Amino acid sequence: MATLKAVRGTRDLLPPETALWNRIEATARDVFARYNFGEIRTPIIEDTSLFSRSVGEETDIVSKEMFTWQDRGRLRSDHAQSLTLRPENTAGVVRAYVEHKLGDAGQLQKFYYIGPQFRRERPMKGRYRQFSQIGAEVIGPPHAGSESPLRDAEVLEMLATLLDELGINGWTLELNSVGSAADRARYNETLRQALIPVAPKMCEDCQRRAVTNPLRVLDCKVPEDQPIIDTLPKIADSLDDDSKSHFAAVTAALDAAGVPYTRNHRLVRGLDYYTRTTFEFTHGGLGAQNALLGGGRYDGLSEAIGGPKAPGIGFAMGEDRLVLTLQALEAAKPEKADAYIAPLGETVNAAALALARELRRGGLTVELGDGSFRLKKSFDAADRTARRIIIMGEDEVASGILTVKDFSTGIQTKVPRAELAGVLKTPGGK
Ligand code: ATP
Ligand code: MG
Repeated sequence: MATLKAVRGTRDLLPPETALWNRIEATARDVFARYNFGEIRTPIIEDTSLFSRSVGEETDIVSKEMFTWQDRGRLRSDHAQSLTLRPENTAGVVRAYVEHKLGDAGQLQKFYYIGPQFRRERPMKGRYRQFSQIGAEVIGPPHAGSESPLRDAEVLEMLATLLDELGINGWTLELNSVGSAADRARYNETLRQALIPVAPKMCEDCQRRAVTNPLRVLDCKVPEDQPIIDTLPKIADSLDDDSKSHFAAVTAALDAAGVPYTRNHRLVRGLDYYTRTTFEFTHGGLGAQNALLGGGRYDGLSEAIGGPKAPGIGFAMGEDRLVLTLQALEAAKPEKADAYIAPLGETVNAAALALARELRRGGLTVELGDGSFRLKKSFDAADRTARRIIIMGEDEVASGILTVKDFSTGIQTKVPRAELAGVLKTPGGK
């Protein structure tokens, strides 16, 4: 029989790597708490039309990447409903905001989420069909200040802090404004005109985009097309005065806070719901899939799914890519246990379990060997998994004095049982 494997584009996360995932999530939760965000958990399954109405029919995500099926329920009378595994989480958060009438509170709502997303993409390093995003959203009625550029700057400053606290050195913040829906429509038309003479010289994808969705030409990665794209009009020149001053206020606040950024005129993002501020944080260590996270403002999203006016701003970080970056930075050495207890003989096994229990309850991470092992085998196992080995024979049980060897210094000492926890807590070798 053929052996079963994880489905294409999905994978198992195993220890010790999962410790890194947990550390990233703990740091994110801690930072979000300090900025007064609360956690939201929305369903993984949503009505397909949620995504077609928000992310947009013409986007890569909706047109070709979603896992969608017709669900007819259990009864013949249940009418078929098109369901989708969420490809992103902003739409679900805004749906929940609308469904629970959270705008009625008259205040800004600040949410964060951590969870799996699904896109049928061609799998490669940093690109999977099931991946995890950590994201946050600030949304509310306009009178609560949800349109203020200060909210954009605060979210960007929070991201800079989070990446720094995660130990992701060397990130770059790329920033742009795609303006209002009217600005974007105007720009699309300008681009369409500008592309007429040059499109025949461009790649096939661009020739198609030049007609269907000119904005997407700016995403093209084909090297030969780059000099042509550089000559195209910039969206900055199609922004109205409100969009321009909004963007200027965002950058002024970032300057005041000392958050570095670069303006990227080509950053238009692949989801239709974005308005005004758009951004990406990238990292050189990631190679081709270099975007750590993306986000922006979505002032019309709530209305697009039938809700009240509720401008907002948010982002989604690719957790898989955070892990890859930290691994590449070697900031991710697996932690070793504080101690390995080696019972000398099976008669000491029970006493060794009692000692392990005492130390573990005291907050230490302890590996427990087995009395049937030869001492050499215990030493090898201990050296791989722990910083120190505690040797426990019948003499040690009787005297209450244990032999402890620290692998980093090679020093072996005798430690009374009452002092053991204290000794193990002092920083030893790695
Ligand atoms: P990309 O240009 O890399 O395809 P995107 O524009 O499709 O990214 P978003 O939809 O903005 O990405 O998602 C935000 C973040 O989620 C990305 O910056 C990336 O870190 C992560 N991400 C998106 N798609 C995947 C995927 N298939 N596998 C792993 N991470 C992903
Ligand atoms: Mg993508």
